[in-house]
Amino acid sequence: METYASDVVIIGGGIAGITAALELLNQGKKVIIFDRDVEENFGGLAKESFGGMFFVDTPQQRKAGIKDTPELAFKDWCSVAKFAANDRWPKAWAKTYVYNCTAKVYDWLKVQGIKFFPVVHWVERGLFTPGNSYPRFHMVWGTGFELSEVLRKNLLSHPKASTHLQLFFQHKVNKIIEDGNGITGISGIDEASGIPFAASAEATIIATGGIGGNIELVRHHWYKPWGEPPQVILNGAHKYGLGDMHHEVENHRGLVTHLDKMWPYAAGVHHPEPTRELHGLSLVPPKSALWLNYKGERIGPMPLMTAYDTRYLVEQICKQEKKYSWQVLNLKIAYKEFAISGSESNEAMKNKDILGFIKDTLLGNKKLVDKMLTTCEDFVVADTIEELADKMNVLTDTQDIEVGTLESAIGDYDANIDRGPKYFNDDQLRRIAHARNYRGDKVRTSKFRKINDKKALPLIAIREFILSRKTLGGIQTNLKCEVLNNEGTPLSGLYAVGEAAGFGGGGMHGQGSLEGTFLGGCVLTGRVVAYTISGKQLISDG
Ligand SMILES: Cc1cc2nc3c(=O)[nH]c(=O)nc-3n(C[C@H](O)[C@H](O)[C@H](O)COP(=O)(O)OP(=O)(O)OC[C@H]3O[C@@H](n4cnc5c(N)ncnc54)[C@H](O)[C@@H]3O)c2cc1C
Repeated sequence: METYASDVVIIGGGIAGITAALELLNQGKKVIIFDRDVEENFGGLAKESFGGMFFVDTPQQRKAGIKDTPELAFKDWCSVAKFAANDRWPKAWAKTYVYNCTAKVYDWLKVQGIKFFPVVHWVERGLFTPGNSYPRFHMVWGTGFELSEVLRKNLLSHPKASTHLQLFFQHKVNKIIEDGNGITGISGIDEASGIPFAASAEATIIATGGIGGNIELVRHHWYKPWGEPPQVILNGAHKYGLGDMHHEVENHRGLVTHLDKMWPYAAGVHHPEPTRELHGLSLVPPKSALWLNYKGERIGPMPLMTAYDTRYLVEQICKQEKKYSWQVLNLKIAYKEFAISGSESNEAMKNKDILGFIKDTLLGNKKLVDKMLTTCEDFVVADTIEELADKMNVLTDTQDIEVGTLESAIGDYDANIDRGPKYFNDDQLRRIAHARNYRGDKVRTSKFRKINDKKALPLIAIREFILSRKTLGGIQTNLKCEVLNNEGTPLSGLYAVGEAAGFGGGGMHGQGSLEGTFLGGCVLTGRVVAYTISGKQLISDG
C-alpha cells in the first residue's frame, strides 16, 4: 500500500479539478490530484469539448449592440430549468452562476490567457418557452482543447507546483475514508501496477464528472416522461464518467439529486474511430435538412430543427415507436451547414488557424463532410430518392422506409420552397429565415435550399441516435461547494465541483440548459471550492 498526505486531495483531473488545483496553489495549499485516466488525457472532457461558454454582458455582446443583463439571463435560465419549489440549492447555484459568470469566469479566463471569438453564437433560443433572449455562447478561440491546455500548463508551471502539487494518473479512487470527525481522505488502486494506495487530507474534492459514460446507469435514471430508453444510446461522455463516486458519496450519507435530469443530444452518430464502447459524435444538425422518423415520415407537426430547444428534439424522437431518426439533405447543404460538436472535428478552430477557419466558414467544412461520408457507418448516399430509401433499409436491416413516404416528405417540403418566400407556410422555413437574420448563423445556413435539387446531388441520409452527454443532476452542495447530507448539513471535509456536483447544488440547470453553461460551471465551482478551503470567499452572499 502506497500512502500519501496533503492539505487537499482532488479526485478527477478534468477542467473542474484543474481549476480547483490552480486556485489552491494560489492560496498556498498542497494538492494531490488522482485521476483514473492516462496522463495524455489530463484535462478530461473539456479537452474534447467545443469550447462554447455562456456569459452575460461581455465586451463581445456589447460590441454587437446586445444589451444583456443578469436579470434577463436568469429569467431565461429559469424558463428552461423549470425548477421545482424545493430546488433550493440548484436555484441558488443557477443565480450565482448567472450573476458571477462574467466577472469570475470570463475575466479570470482572460487573465489565464484564453481568448474568445468576436461573434457570439445564438443557441437554445427557445421554442414554446423563451430560451436565450440574446446570443450568449462565447467560443474559446482554440476550442475546449485550448481552454483545458492553457489551464493545465498554468497549473504545471505554477511557481508552487514543484513543492505543492502531485499528480497521479491511472489511479482509480474507490473509497472515501471517514473517522468520527468527518472525511479524512480516500483510497484506491493504481491500475497500472495493481498496487493499492491511500491518501489523507484535510479536504477531499470530488471532481469526477457526470454519469453519462455509464450507459446502463443512464438507462436506469432515464427521465420517466420520455418513456422507455432508446434501444441504442451512444456514448458522448467520459469513459470514466461512471458514477462510482456519486455512489460512494451516498455511502457516506451525502445527497445525490436529479440524476434523471440529463442533457443528451438528438443527433448522435457512431464515431468512425471509437475509443470507447458505443462511442458517438454529436452532430450540429444542419438546419436545412429534413428531420424524419424511422419510417421516413417528417416528425411534426412542429418540424425538428436545431438552435431552438435541444430537449424538445430528444423528447420528440423518444415519442416515436423506434427511438432513432434520420436527417435527409443533399451534398450542397452538407458542405454549407454540416458540423460536429467538439475540438477534434473543428480542426482549424482547434489549431487557431485563422485562414483555415475563414475558409471553412465561407466554403463549408468539405474535409469533414467527405470524411464522414466515407468512414461513418450512419451515412448513406444516393442519386435518387428510391435508391436512398433502399440504402436506408439496408442500413437498418428493415423495410421501415417506403419510397412513397420518403418521396412525399421531401416533395412537400420542396414544393413549399418552389412557391417562393411570399407563400412559404412551413415552420422550418420560417425559422431558417429567422436564423439567417443573425450574422452568426447567416453564413452557415443555406437560403431555402430544396432537398431533391438536381444541381445539389447526391442525396444524403444520416441515421441519428440519442447520445448521452451531460449529467445535469449530481452531488448536492451549498454555495461553498460543501457536500450536504439529507438534512442539508455539510459533511465535514468533503466537497464536490463541476459535473459531479451537477455543476453546483446537485443540478443548477434544473431540467434544461441554455448551453455553454457546463464548462463555465466547472470553472466557477473549481474556483469557489479553493476559496472555501482557504477560508476565503470568492462570491458575496446573496
Ligand atoms: C464533445 C464535447 C463537446 C462539449 N462541448 C461543450 C461546450 O461547448 N460547452 C460546454 O459548456 N460544455 C461542453 N461539453 C461538456 C463539458 O466538456 C463537460 O461538462 C466538462 O468538461 C466536465 O468537466 P469535469 O471536470 O466536471 O469532469 P470530466 O471532464 O468528466 O473529468 C472527470 C475526471 O475524473 C476522472 N475520474 C472519474 N472517476 C474517477 C475515479 N473513481 N478515480 C479517479 N479518477 C476518476 C476521469 O478520468 C476524468 O478525468 C462538451 C463535452 C463533450 C464531450
